[in-house]
Amino acid sequence: MTAQVIDGTAVARHVRADVAKGVEQLVAGGGTAPGLATVLIGDDPASEVYVRNKRRACVAAGMTDLHRHLPADVDQAQAAALVDELAADPAVSGILLQLPTPADLDAEALLARIPAEKDVDGLTTLNAGLLAQGRPGLRPCTPSGVMVLLDQYDVPLQGAEAVVVGRSVLVGKPMAQLLLERNATVTTCHSRTRDLAEVCRRADVLVVAAGIPGLVGADAVKPGATVIDVGIHRGENGLRGDVDTAAVAEVAGKTTPVPGGVGPMTIAMLLANTLTAAEVQQGLGG
Ligand code: ADP
Repeated sequence: MTAQVIDGTAVARHVRADVAKGVEQLVAGGGTAPGLATVLIGDDPASEVYVRNKRRACVAAGMTDLHRHLPADVDQAQAAALVDELAADPAVSGILLQLPTPADLDAEALLARIPAEKDVDGLTTLNAGLLAQGRPGLRPCTPSGVMVLLDQYDVPLQGAEAVVVGRSVLVGKPMAQLLLERNATVTTCHSRTRDLAEVCRRADVLVVAAGIPGLVGADAVKPGATVIDVGIHRGENGLRGDVDTAAVAEVAGKTTPVPGGVGPMTIAMLLANTLTAAEVQQGLGG
């Protein structure tokens, strides 16, 4: 049996089309088009590519691109002043500080200045706390994209064994909490987990976000399981993830490809968050 491939590109296209429709409705109802302020500090080429893609997607969805770029040598006060300006600007629905920032800046202190209602990456302490308490708030884009994929492919979560590999603030931790919110029985693995493959074999739903190419092989997968690969690594033969997809596909029921799985969902969910933020700010619920 070869696993069904979860088509993240197609699902992301649907999400983006829905967001574009939502933007149209917001404007038709007398509201203002959402504005996304991506903030890039310095000239890291990978970050430049990510930011460019986010800006393009934002414009394609009918949103206003309010991108800002600061040189690599700005000091903390200058960077903080920009975040404060965007925080106060009613045209700005969402602020996305592209990480990593240059090493001599305190990124956490900058994130802390983003108002929770404009925190479209879901990374502020307040939004992380709201998620931990199961209360409404803006959720981190990558794990919420994974939830949309699981739902689109009718993967049952209630009472299911879910294993998350990785406990980062960006992916692993919020991923575990989102699965818990949906009544899965959740286990989180990390670099000190004693027998990774053994724990992973429990999973009906296995989400891998460890940042290690090919970490999860077929021996770590229960027959029929759904395996979601959040990793992305540039190698000699193109992109690959944290999962040895070719081998795992012979055991799993469903798998995500790299590229074309989780990746496209992240930007789609950023757009969805930006629309939600604008709706809430304009008094339209969300
Ligand atoms: P991401 O942002 O994709 O989650 P990070 O590099 O920030 O990636 O985090 C990597 C996570 O993966 C950490 O939480 C770490 O504990 C976990 N991890 C690293 N190595 C292993 C391993 N060998 N087995 C399981 N988990 C691991």
